[in-house]
Amino acid sequence: MINREFSGFIKNLMPRVQKKVDLDSPVSMWREMDRLGGFPEKTTVVIFRTTGCSWYNFSSCSMCGYFNDISPDVGIENLYHQIDHVVSSLDTEALKVFTSGSFLDPLEFPLSAREYFFSSIKGKVERLLVESRTEYIRKSNLEDLPLDAMKVRVAIGLESASDSIIINSINKGSSFSKYVAAAEILKDLGVELRTYLLFKPPFLSEKQAIDDMLYSIKKAQPYSKDVSVNPMNIQSNTYVEYLWKRGLYKLPRLWSLARILIESENSGVDVVSYPTGGNKERGVHNDNPDPQLLQLIYESSLNQNFEDLKNYYAESDRSLYERTIELESLNLLQADYDKMIRKDGSFIIN
Ligand code: SF4
Repeated sequence: MINREFSGFIKNLMPRVQKKVDLDSPVSMWREMDRLGGFPEKTTVVIFRTTGCSWYNFSSCSMCGYFNDISPDVGIENLYHQIDHVVSSLDTEALKVFTSGSFLDPLEFPLSAREYFFSSIKGKVERLLVESRTEYIRKSNLEDLPLDAMKVRVAIGLESASDSIIINSINKGSSFSKYVAAAEILKDLGVELRTYLLFKPPFLSEKQAIDDMLYSIKKAQPYSKDVSVNPMNIQSNTYVEYLWKRGLYKLPRLWSLARILIESENSGVDVVSYPTGGNKERGVHNDNPDPQLLQLIYESSLNQNFEDLKNYYAESDRSLYERTIELESLNLLQADYDKMIRKDGSFIIN
C-alpha cells in the first residue's frame, strides 16, 4: 500500500541535520479549548520531544513537518524530565498529548516512560487524549492504559477513507481497513476514538476534496467519538511545501470548510475543526481574509451549534467562490495559477 517513487521523493526533502534542542523540555505546551468531555473546557496540550514517528525511517506523510521537532538523542531520562515539566504546570482536567509521532509506539515513547507518565497524571487528569498510528493499536500494547482512573481517547490520523488518496496524495503508509481494525480494538477496550481527516491533500480539486471529507466522515462515523477535519497547512521541508512554493498546490478556502461542517451537522458524529494557521498565507483562507468566518468555525465546532455559521454562510455572497471552484474542478493540473505565474508573465516552476 505504498507508492515507492512518491515515498522516496518525500524522504529526500526531509532535512538530515538536526538542530540543537533542549532534550529535557517538551517541544511546546499551551492551553486551548476542546470538548473531550462532550462540553467546551480548557485543555492542556503538550508536544513531547521524542525520537519521532517510526514512519520517518522510511518516509513521511506529504504534509507532515513534525520531523523538524524531533531529536535522535532523546533518551528515557529526558522523557522523565519532560513529564515532570508537564505535570508541575498542569492545571486542567483535560490533557492532549502529541509526540511528533505515536505516543503508543514503545520505541518512540518507551513503556517505562509511559508508566511514569500515567502514574504522574493519575488524580490530576480526568480526560486524556493521545495520538497513534494504527500499527500500535493492539490489545497487548494497550493493557497499561489508565482506564480506571480517567477517560482515554486515542486519535488516529485516518486523513481520508479513500485508499488511493492515502497512497498517492498523502503517503500515509496505512489504509482504511487498518484504521477499522484499530478502531474495533479501541471499541472493545472502551477507549474513545478521535479520527483526524486531512482536508485537501495534493492533486485534488477543492470540490473533490470537499467530497472526500464528506465521504470520509460518513465512513469514520460508526467508529468515532468525534471527527476532526484538519485543513491543510504548509509545514517546512514537506512535499506539500515543495509544491506550494512552485504554485503547484493551492490551499483550501474557509468557505469549503464551513460547508463541510454545515453538511455534516446531522452525520451522527461530532465533527469539529480548529484550523492551524487559519486566514494566514500558509493556512486555510478565502481570497480575502475573513476573521468572522474563522471565528464561527471555531465556535460552532466547540459548541456543536452551527446556527450562526449557517446564517453567515447563507447570507454571504459566495458566487465568485462557487464559480471559481467549479472552474478549478475542470483543470487537469490542480495548481495555484496566481502564484505560478510571475508578474512578468513567466512561470516560477523550476
Ligand atoms: S504518521 Fe503522523 S507523525 Fe508520522 S509522518 Fe504521518 S502525520 Fe507525521
